[in-house]
Amino acid sequence: MKYSSFLIKYAEIAIKGKNRYLFEDALIRQIKYALKRTEGDFAVTKAQGRIYIECLSDYDYDEVIANLSYVFGITGICPVVHVEDNGFEELCNDVIKYISDVYPERNKTFKVHARRARKNYPLDSQEINVELGSRILDAYPKMRVDVHDPEILLNIEIRERIYIYSVTEKGPGGMPVGTNGKGMLLLSGGIDSPVAGYMISKRGVKLDAVYFHAPPYTSERAKQKVIDLAKTVSKYSGPIYLHVINFTDIQLYIYENCPHDELTIIMRRFMMRLAEDIAKKTECLGLITGESIGQVASQTMQSLAATNEVCTIPVYRPLIGMDKQEIITISEKIGTYETSILPFEDCCTIFVAKHPVTKPNINIIKRSESKLSEKIDELYKKALETDETIIVHS
Ligand code: ATP
Ligand code: MG
Repeated sequence: MKYSSFLIKYAEIAIKGKNRYLFEDALIRQIKYALKRTEGDFAVTKAQGRIYIECLSDYDYDEVIANLSYVFGITGICPVVHVEDNGFEELCNDVIKYISDVYPERNKTFKVHARRARKNYPLDSQEINVELGSRILDAYPKMRVDVHDPEILLNIEIRERIYIYSVTEKGPGGMPVGTNGKGMLLLSGGIDSPVAGYMISKRGVKLDAVYFHAPPYTSERAKQKVIDLAKTVSKYSGPIYLHVINFTDIQLYIYENCPHDELTIIMRRFMMRLAEDIAKKTECLGLITGESIGQVASQTMQSLAATNEVCTIPVYRPLIGMDKQEIITISEKIGTYETSILPFEDCCTIFVAKHPVTKPNINIIKRSESKLSEKIDELYKKALETDETIIVHS
């Protein structure tokens, strides 16, 4: 079947009044972004409170649907056939052909739902419903009308041309990226943080990201892995400014001066401080991490409290109540899992103690950090200066 356009459906709940334009404009921007990596020419238009994708050249149906499944805010995608208005008889023929093309079995229950955007059409909506219905029954005796729960809801829209559609492909839901501010994702090479970024992005939040690497303890390949993960997440979120920060000197300094069972917590506190500084400079309204309660020693309630204590902006932890398997399921679905399980070390795993504290006491941690007073400010400033910002997009 050759469709001329796609009608985009979106939830209207959050978009009363002025918000409607922001929502629709962000949605159109994200649709265009997804179509850029789709073979073919398309025009995205807003007309009569509807968003349409007009197909201006050949395209691959499955590819279009697959790429639109990355656009948060879309609840449904309806492929539409356009026909010229050459009188009602021609329309009946067009619809009968449409049914045999889209439903070759021709044995479904259906209901015709006509609408006239153009009131000078000779039949009114109800007349179209009744007359077209009976023509379909004549043509395909195995089809039946069911006005309450039809398998096919056949939409006929009378505009300059006539639009015929009945199929709805499911969209990903959520809100268009760009409608809810921007967050700073702490992105490591693991399984969790890309999923966390995806989940916050689904709520309409644009993402920047920060990755702390520790050369030569972590390799170029570990860094490339994080870039690749950002790239996959950016299919959903749009372009990501990824800040790569050299964390080696801070990490070594902590290693030399603090008790080893507290290393992870203290390192995590410095990561959060640095991430917050970058977030504030880049107008991010919160930090995003892949933490989940109890997953590892640094994610007990006490450890999270100790990590959180250095932050003054909100920290969003969308995976907080999820089991590892639930997180893995999402990472498989969004396409990050295969990259995440590649074996290159991220910076935490090299400096981990055999028996890290699981119930850190904030006062004790602060006392340990005071042993860093001689050089930490300088190292901190230097780390911020190493910021290599990579613009990642799909
Ligand atoms: P992940 O799978 O996301 O790496 P994890 O289970 O390995 O998580 P941790 O290593 O304790 O958990 O990290 C907790 C969170 O801290 C991560 O989800 C991520 O948001 C952040 N994080 C950890 N290491 C880094 C890093 N090197 N750069 C940026 N963020 C990091
Ligand atoms: Mg990790």
